[in-house]
Amino acid sequence: MIILRDISSVTAAISQARREGKTVGFVPTMGFLHQGHLSLVRQARMENDLVVLSIFVNPIQFGVGEDYEEYPRDLDSDSSKAEEAGCDLIFYPTTAEMYPQGYATFVDVERLTENLCGASRPGHFRGVTTVVTKLFNIVKPHRAYFGQKDAQQVLTIQRMVQDLNMAVAVKIMPTVREADGLALSSRNTYLSTAERAAAPILYRSLLAVVAKITNGERDANSLLTYLHDAISAEPLAQIDYISIVDTADIKPVSTIDGPTLIALAVRFGKTRLIDNIIVEV
Ligand code: AMP
Repeated sequence: MIILRDISSVTAAISQARREGKTVGFVPTMGFLHQGHLSLVRQARMENDLVVLSIFVNPIQFGVGEDYEEYPRDLDSDSSKAEEAGCDLIFYPTTAEMYPQGYATFVDVERLTENLCGASRPGHFRGVTTVVTKLFNIVKPHRAYFGQKDAQQVLTIQRMVQDLNMAVAVKIMPTVREADGLALSSRNTYLSTAERAAAPILYRSLLAVVAKITNGERDANSLLTYLHDAISAEPLAQIDYISIVDTADIKPVSTIDGPTLIALAVRFGKTRLIDNIIVEV
């Protein structure tokens, strides 16, 4: 496995592979890799000849006062985990390499980014879609792998790829969880012991809502009330948002009658966690 920091070396290595007829699978990340990231790498390994992982803590997707500076970083550990999972090439650019002086171009997906994390974190998705576009242009993957954990991100990137005719297949992998249901996240390292013990309330509550839907409940408001109450019962949990939306436009629904995303963001102390479930009725 090789680690490259400059764009020209990456494009040279990948052009060579493509000339040899190899397929390229790509996993964009911000590093501090866990089994969620590695599930994407393993899937890419199974489906492609060359597996590329990027590690870049993208400053333009963080808002003022968010955790850009504190975001955990550990290249040594990441590279051994990535190699073990089957990665061939890590692209690990500097911020100046990605956003040189004079940088002025941004990609904005409308509508799907208005609600949920788009409302809580203004500018976040513009940062995500911009960096993903740049990474796609640099890596030119045949397939790119994303986690369902970031459901709004996935739907936004799928929209962008379709709208901008990007020649990449977007592959979505299920959320990888701890044994107690907590979705793996690099940010889980911020949690205190008490917060970590409280955090599984998120997935437990989502599962309880799915059970209600399976039992015939279709009224979004009563499901939202249930979720609010279930999560508020945990004193360490501070709700940022809980939403029930359609998966096409990410707009709130009043009745569950199609593919529906149940998504939430909840703070435990200074740590903001997200989780979601999609139900198909
Ligand atoms: P991040 O490093 O947080 O930007 O995540 C990089 C990629 O890994 C994104 O596509 C995430 O959706 C995915 N990912 C993060 N956590 C998980 C998880 N627990 N299960 C599956 N995929 C994940």
